[in-house]
Amino acid sequence: MYDKFNDECGVFGIFNHPEAANMTYLGLYALQHRGQEGCGICAADGTRIRTHVGTGLVADVFKDNQIFNSLPGKASIGHVRYSTAGGDSIKNCQPITVNYSRGSISVAHNGNLVNAQEVRSELEKLGSIFSTTSDTEVIVHLLARSQADHLADRIAEALKAVRGAYSLVFLSETRMIAVRDPSGFRPLVLGKVDGAYVVASETCALDLIEAEYVREVEPGEMIVFDKDGMCSLFPFEKHKLSQCIFEFIYFARPDSTVFGQQVYEMRKNFGRQLAREHAVDADIVIPVPDSGVPAAIGYAEESGLSYQMGLIRNHYVGRTFIEPQQSIRHFGVKIKLNAIREVFKGKRVVVVDDSVVRGTTSRKIIKMIRNAGAKEVHMRVSSPPTSYPCFYGIDTPTRKELIGSSHTIEEICRYITADTLGYLSIDGMRRVVGVKDGGCGGFCDACFSGDYPVKFPRLGEEAQLGLF
Ligand code: AMP
Repeated sequence: MYDKFNDECGVFGIFNHPEAANMTYLGLYALQHRGQEGCGICAADGTRIRTHVGTGLVADVFKDNQIFNSLPGKASIGHVRYSTAGGDSIKNCQPITVNYSRGSISVAHNGNLVNAQEVRSELEKLGSIFSTTSDTEVIVHLLARSQADHLADRIAEALKAVRGAYSLVFLSETRMIAVRDPSGFRPLVLGKVDGAYVVASETCALDLIEAEYVREVEPGEMIVFDKDGMCSLFPFEKHKLSQCIFEFIYFARPDSTVFGQQVYEMRKNFGRQLAREHAVDADIVIPVPDSGVPAAIGYAEESGLSYQMGLIRNHYVGRTFIEPQQSIRHFGVKIKLNAIREVFKGKRVVVVDDSVVRGTTSRKIIKMIRNAGAKEVHMRVSSPPTSYPCFYGIDTPTRKELIGSSHTIEEICRYITADTLGYLSIDGMRRVVGVKDGGCGGFCDACFSGDYPVKFPRLGEEAQLGLF
């Protein structure tokens, strides 16, 4: 059975810090939005790696201070795992730690390997036994089989056999190694604090521990941290750059810099562009909080309309919220959001959200806004229709569940019961992220364009798990 256990995760690592495990804990707090199903921390003290993983939020898995006493050492890596349907087993939490002939190795992975199934079947034929359904375990098996003398070479050899998206942090007893795949799908940044090196999925993790942002880990780069400092290697063949545009649209935190660009500014600029493409006579602009906020501010600034917080979000309801029994299910989105009647009464409203996936959220929100007294509701989406599933680490439903893949804009507008509906154009989105020469210039926008940069010969849509 194949599962996408590494999707939408967050990784963190710190080398040469006296409070390494504690710093990782803080880093994972900042990356919690990248995964809420499980998390874990490993620490190495020069002779041994110790690991603590669990299901749930960082605050729950590490609520007992004693845990940190059992994670000594000046090097540590951590991982937050995204919630997918099913697989909430502790076995699939990361970092994965294994013992092999050369010692111990831990690994934390953000991304998705498109040929993991193939490689796994080959390894199984040769006698390998897998203990999880995670594609990350494939990397561990490959590196354990390598005959190369140095850990960096073993990792490089293993990664040359896989394809797809990976931002990885490895920990051995004495070294930390960070690697970003040659296409640069998922983000990974490098920082420094008090003489220690830090790597993290997003800069918001550096900010929390007051680390200085040094630069991105480059696509195809492997950085080895050991007692002599840091050493940068480029062991892979060059690939076309394919940074995930969805990090800008929805996934990354707005206070982060990813792929060298500020996410908040980018989202505001998507909103500005959206206003230029889909202007409408209205009274107020409201965001779907929280992810629609920066784009709605941009839309309001560009259009000159008044920006209002008409929908209030309950911040204590996480993504892992399980709906109560059938009989009271109709509460739906009201558990997360509530409308302020005074804001909407008699108003022509522009509602801005970052993306429409199945359309169910927009439909419920528009109903709520009309019930609160709005005269007109104009839906504006700060990304193009999400029409194709992602195979590189963002969890999306299969193609037939994506409303943008099977319905026209008019049909979607009718379904969500909006007066008008406007999506950001693919060209407009590309222009905002800085693509000048046509095409997708350094970014992967396959979820909108269907233009997949790394092929996946045997992984069909059926292999995807529905999230929503
Ligand atoms: P839907 O109801 O399926 O149209 O979902 C749309 C909502 O889900 C939007 O408000 C987005 O902010 C959010 N969203 C978009 N992509 C994802 C994702 N990959 N994981 C979780 N939430 C998402």
